[in-house]
Amino acid sequence: MKRQFLIVLIFALSFAFVSGQRKIVNLPDIPGYVTIKCDFHMHSIYSDGDVWPTVRIDEALRDGLDAIAITDHLEYTPKKDYIPLDFNAAWKIGEGYAKERNLILVHATEITRKMPPGHFNALFINDASLIAKDSVWDAFEAAIKQGAFLQWNHPGWKSQEPDGIPKLYDIHKRMLKNGWIHGIEYFNDSEYYPLVFTFCKQNNIALMGNSDVHGIISEIYKSSEYKNRPMTLVFAKEKSHDSLKEAMFAGRTMVYFKDILVAKEEYAKPFFNQCISVGKPFFQNDKNRYFEVTNNSDVTFYLINGIANSPATITLAANSVTRVVVSKKVTSPLTYDVKNVLTGEKDNLKIELKY
Ligand code: ZN
Repeated sequence: MKRQFLIVLIFALSFAFVSGQRKIVNLPDIPGYVTIKCDFHMHSIYSDGDVWPTVRIDEALRDGLDAIAITDHLEYTPKKDYIPLDFNAAWKIGEGYAKERNLILVHATEITRKMPPGHFNALFINDASLIAKDSVWDAFEAAIKQGAFLQWNHPGWKSQEPDGIPKLYDIHKRMLKNGWIHGIEYFNDSEYYPLVFTFCKQNNIALMGNSDVHGIISEIYKSSEYKNRPMTLVFAKEKSHDSLKEAMFAGRTMVYFKDILVAKEEYAKPFFNQCISVGKPFFQNDKNRYFEVTNNSDVTFYLINGIANSPATITLAANSVTRVVVSKKVTSPLTYDVKNVLTGEKDNLKIELKY
């Protein structure tokens, strides 16, 4: 009898833990801002995705995200013979479910056209059905009227740009002139477009990185291969829907996928410094000093271009302490470029290790 009770209890407990779990993703806050982990591009059965909207919310929690947008296509709804058309369905189904789970769900849709202008997500909208217009310009205008953040999706997507290089067409230039492009995807799934950094810098808009998932996320980013899905990290004054929106319009974002981080230097530098701490030398002999570097983040950093008499490269493994041995001929700090932290189309973050 006792034994049966124990078995029932173990079952009940395991269910309680598993159903509410949220993965811990070690990506630190930066001074003055909290880091909100987001994915602003995904689909449900209300367009060409394969899952019910609340599944997207459960997946996001399992991946340790703080905010998502379900961005079903307005113009591509291949399941409409089986599922009634409602451009706001994912939002209506998910809104309360997300709130109960401490996840920010952003009301959104995807405007889906040939290139130019290509695909755009309208984020922070009130009513997607009012954005379903014949003319794409009218659709953009209707989104802007609702206060939308317009994100240009996969601008170098090979189905639309066979050479994979994003191009600013006339309509994009007109949109930029109006202030109608607020973010551009640098990463869309595993495609990425270095030129997007230059577009974003020149126009002072947000770099974005998203999954654009259609199927089951854990089948696409399998844990054996991927630590995390593509993410947009947003540096917000607090973790709330309105702060998130403010930060995105202000362009305070960083893109993260695999071990690559992409951001303006003003965000990349403090972020790196929050991940890393350098200890005082713990030992020295005639020749060398020995010190440790702690990396408290999920990102492995690859330091390159070390100065003479110091290690040419150092790998700071994620969530690990790395020992560094340096000649006494060298004085602190050591300088490095971080190979996997990009601060421009062709620029790497420059850092110092002060020991
Ligand atoms: Zn999409």
